[in-house]
Amino acid sequence: MDAALRKMHDPAQLGLPLVGADSHAHLDGEGFYEDFEETLERARAAGVALIGNVFLDIESWMRSRARFDARPEVFFILGRHPIDAASWEESDTERMREVFLSEPRFRAVGETGLDYYWKDATPAQQKRAFLSQAALARELDMPLVVHCRDAEQDTLAILEGMKMQGHPVLWHCFGGAAGLARRITDNGWHVSIAGPVTYPANNALREALRVIPLDRLHVETDSPYLAPQNRRGKRNEPAYAAFTAAAIADYLGMDRAGLWRVCGENTRRFFRI
Ligand SMILES: [Zn+2]
Repeated sequence: MDAALRKMHDPAQLGLPLVGADSHAHLDGEGFYEDFEETLERARAAGVALIGNVFLDIESWMRSRARFDARPEVFFILGRHPIDAASWEESDTERMREVFLSEPRFRAVGETGLDYYWKDATPAQQKRAFLSQAALARELDMPLVVHCRDAEQDTLAILEGMKMQGHPVLWHCFGGAAGLARRITDNGWHVSIAGPVTYPANNALREALRVIPLDRLHVETDSPYLAPQNRRGKRNEPAYAAFTAAAIADYLGMDRAGLWRVCGENTRRFFRI
């Protein structure tokens, strides 16, 4: 790789200050087993001071938790993903409650929601798991991280039906257009933007950025998925949040470091860190 190419692929070269956040990553899987420490060092070098790690089941947390012991920049989120909702039982609420009450590094419930793209669980099964977890978030007064794919109307109907307007809700990996962004933010909720905002075809998503209030905007990677355009198809990692933030700032005509700082502050405040 020549020097210019290497520079383009190194997020530390953007020179962002160590005040940013990756609001949503999955670092507990096997994909990060080999180079976990190096991954977090690269994130730090790129300006990522805070990472929300989303565990999709309690067992994965128990298996991998030791990895996170020496990494205080990572906070935890726990939920059942809608594609895994077929196995949801009411007793899962009790098991999750115990984890949330026993481990203060867990700051939010999620990701939970509705995903009608994948057919692993029926809409009814997904709604049941989503409703239970949203109710748990409210009971424990914890923020809720929502996953939604091809199910915008039903997701909104559940959240609005539960009157979650006064509750901290983060719509993760937002991929919609301006109308949906406005509906979400009119309800007082937050929006997190991932790598696809850098894909050339996603003009509607970039236009939606303009209607999201700056104090409600977050950056995430959803690592190991959804790498930004210059790493597309490769494993994603938290350092690449810097590429996504730079692209958002450029699109909005904002100073990159300034946007990075604001989004980092939003993530810190939203998750009460
Ligand atoms: Zn995720």
